[in-house]
Amino acid sequence: MDAFLKAALEEAEKGLKEGGIPIGSVLVHQGKIIGRGHNQRVQRGSVVLHAEMDALENAGRQSAAIYRACSLYTTLSPCPMCTGAILLYGIPKVIVGENRTFMGEEELLRARGVSVEVLQDSSCIEMMSDFIRAAPGLWNEDIGM
Ligand SMILES: [Zn+2]
Repeated sequence: MDAFLKAALEEAEKGLKEGGIPIGSVLVHQGKIIGRGHNQRVQRGSVVLHAEMDALENAGRQSAAIYRACSLYTTLSPCPMCTGAILLYGIPKVIVGENRTFMGEEELLRARGVSVEVLQDSSCIEMMSDFIRAAPGLWNEDIGM
């Protein structure tokens, strides 16, 4: 598995162990992880800290030049909120673990010039499928349903 996707998956697993929603993300700049995070809805009672937002938050404030040289890895296709953050900060590349269990705003990202690569990783698919089956109410809350 891609080393950065593996790091994102480890974040997702950490979230699951904490009783949270198993989605993880890392922000990579020039081959180095500068921010990592996972969905914090349950753990912190947060309505905005999806995995991607948590990774961005943990990377701290960065200049536009840094964001423009970053790739964002996420175990799951990014929702409209996270897509908005990716577009706002001009992150040019997103690597998605899978989009079978949830299709995010990949078309919007591509339409705005972002390179989106979907790996359809079986570990990511399995983790989300198991979670959605086990906690459908919590999952629906996370995606606004
Ligand atoms: Zn999101």
